[in-house]
Amino acid sequence: MADRFQRVFDSMTTAVDAPGTSLFDVSDETMGEALLPVLRELHRAVIYDAAFVSLSTDRGWRVLMGDAISPKVDLLTVAESLPTSLLERMLETQQPQFLAKPHSPTKQKPPLSMQAARAWVIAPIQAYGSVFGMLALCNNEPGLYEQRDADLAMAYAGQAAMALENLQLSQETGKRMQEFASLMEASQALYQAADLETILDIVLKEAFALNESQEGSIILIDPPDGDRLRIVAERGLGPEVVEKFNSRPVNRHEGTYRRALTTGEIVEVPDTASDPDFLDDVGSRARQITNVPLIAERGPIGLIAVDGLPRDETTRHLLMALAGIAAVTIDKERLHQQTVARLAEVSTLYTLSTQITSSLSTTSVLESIVSILRMTLDCRSCSIFLIDRTGEHLQLEVASGPSVAWKGIARLRLGEGVSGRVITEQRSIYIPDTQAERDFIFFDPDIRSLLVVPLLVRGEVIGTLSIDDTQPNAFDEELRLLAIAAAQAAVAIENAQLYESLQSSYAELEQAFDELRHLDKSKSELIQNISHELRTPLTFIRGYVELLQDGELGALPEEQQRAVEIVANKTDVLSRLVDDIVSMLQAGRERIRTGPVSISKVARFAVQAARASADEAGLTLIEDIPDGLPLVQGEMRRLGQVFDNLIQNAIKFSQPGGTITVRIVEQEQWIRAEVEDTGIGIAPGEMDRIFERFYQINGTTTRHFDGTGLGLAIVKQIVEAHGGQVGVHSMVGEGSTFFFTIPKTTTEQH
Ligand code: ADP
Repeated sequence: MADRFQRVFDSMTTAVDAPGTSLFDVSDETMGEALLPVLRELHRAVIYDAAFVSLSTDRGWRVLMGDAISPKVDLLTVAESLPTSLLERMLETQQPQFLAKPHSPTKQKPPLSMQAARAWVIAPIQAYGSVFGMLALCNNEPGLYEQRDADLAMAYAGQAAMALENLQLSQETGKRMQEFASLMEASQALYQAADLETILDIVLKEAFALNESQEGSIILIDPPDGDRLRIVAERGLGPEVVEKFNSRPVNRHEGTYRRALTTGEIVEVPDTASDPDFLDDVGSRARQITNVPLIAERGPIGLIAVDGLPRDETTRHLLMALAGIAAVTIDKERLHQQTVARLAEVSTLYTLSTQITSSLSTTSVLESIVSILRMTLDCRSCSIFLIDRTGEHLQLEVASGPSVAWKGIARLRLGEGVSGRVITEQRSIYIPDTQAERDFIFFDPDIRSLLVVPLLVRGEVIGTLSIDDTQPNAFDEELRLLAIAAAQAAVAIENAQLYESLQSSYAELEQAFDELRHLDKSKSELIQNISHELRTPLTFIRGYVELLQDGELGALPEEQQRAVEIVANKTDVLSRLVDDIVSMLQAGRERIRTGPVSISKVARFAVQAARASADEAGLTLIEDIPDGLPLVQGEMRRLGQVFDNLIQNAIKFSQPGGTITVRIVEQEQWIRAEVEDTGIGIAPGEMDRIFERFYQINGTTTRHFDGTGLGLAIVKQIVEAHGGQVGVHSMVGEGSTFFFTIPKTTTEQH
């Protein structure tokens, strides 16, 4: 028996084409299954040649399934012979009806094929207060059915309604279960998703399934702290709509998006045409739209926008649940991406700074900057323009990538072109699409995106750093990195330029120094020659002066004697000058011939030699020289000259009645000699200079001290040649103490 019903059911459902929509959202097959037991029972209770269940759809009545006593019976044909009046009556009364009297729509009534039944019983199948189907029984025997059969049919129709209602309920529960399961699965997949693209894909797919949508997108606030909305994933919209939306641009405070993002609630637009908030210029063609906000921990991050409306409250809840999981996952992934990007930035900057600080040549610094940035930012070209020497033009200095072809050609006036504007406005400029820019000056028509940042050194622009690409909207995140790189680059460029200018000043100085050294050498040679040349005639002059003074050439009258005396004095001065010059040149040029010297002995000897002139000047000359001082390594004659010069100065710059003390002190590693006087003293500003050659305090014509200004220079030269140091302590009006040290080289006592 079961087989028969099944068979009929099969043939019935396949026979029905283009089914309309019925009240029940369940497939015909499933409904057939559910009705089978009812028909089986019916078969036992009521006699019929054929029985069937029809459903009322928006296209009319449709036979869903049935049973016939003979396989030759065509249920569809039979069903068509149901008298319309009977059906109308049933719908009107919502009660079962039967056709007791013979009804003959056709003359021929072949019994077996049952093209038109003679007796009918029909009962309404009702649910939710309306008739949505009927149970029909028919027979070839006229007048077979009566009220009892109608009542029975009504009871079975009730059962059929219940079976279908149960089916619908369980179907719905099943669907919900499925939806929950798929949501769970989706959230599981979301937590495991490796990248943003996968995440967005899963979310969109799930939203489509829940809302039964055909098209839609995920729109994010991008950058996250901005106001701009951007489609980051779509299904069914197509690239043009995305392009239109993303380039409009759309703001988060616009349209239906604002409602969803500010309330945090689902926003349903049942008719986009009549909704005043709906943005009709962003390319969407949908009539109905649902916006589900994506709310992460820190607030709204975007929304899921899909066509159609949620079927019911449960779908809304499910969509919100999906959006909740999606928001957290997307936000986490974006943070992760940001962290990864920041890390990449830091490592780029690190490479950049190590590279550009490792070289001090401007060209190689510039070359490293552009090549590193081009590599890391994966752009078409990276270029540096610098302001040229005239200060009026920008010149392409280096480039990495195809833009290198414009080197030496690309030249802009300040204020002209994007780079020129960056200079005058001192700010970064981003051209997302050069073709949309009316005044854009093209060096290279392939460039679609261009990002230019200024190179600033201590607030002054020296040029620009730029990246370009053949794709529009190529840069966004790059601005930050480029700005930092520009700051580093500017400093490196400045350092390199400073270094280069230092290098060239150094070279200039070296040259100048060489010239001076050469001049100095020639001067010394000249002085040396003149001095030597002067010595011989001076000796003659001296000899003759002495002969004249001694009267060997005849007695001189008194006046002539005075004149000769002046000549003698001046000859002495001249001889001293020549001697000083010669000994200074010697001290500088000749190496000292060292040997163990008793410095005490040298000092005592010098004091002795000076005693006569000290007495003559009315000065007391004191020796303060201890016994048993160690010897020093040196040249006795030269050291004697040091004492002579210092003692002579002390005599020369002291007033009569003063005292001069020559002192020797032993120190740890030195022997220190001092010549102290109570003379005129030296002003603090002069103390350093008096050791210079030819320097004399008040060395003017008004000066009343004789001398050459070479004495102390010779002292310094000799002492330093011995590895020692000279110095002076002095107070104007109180006296001076000149000292020098000679290193001890021997422990030998004397
Ligand atoms: P000069 O031949 O003029 O003495 P020096 O080189 O010996 O040349 O000394 C340089 C200058 O230092 C002197 O002209 C003098 O002005 C100053 N000077 C040197 N020794 C003394 C001193 N003992 N007291 C004051 N001034 C001195």
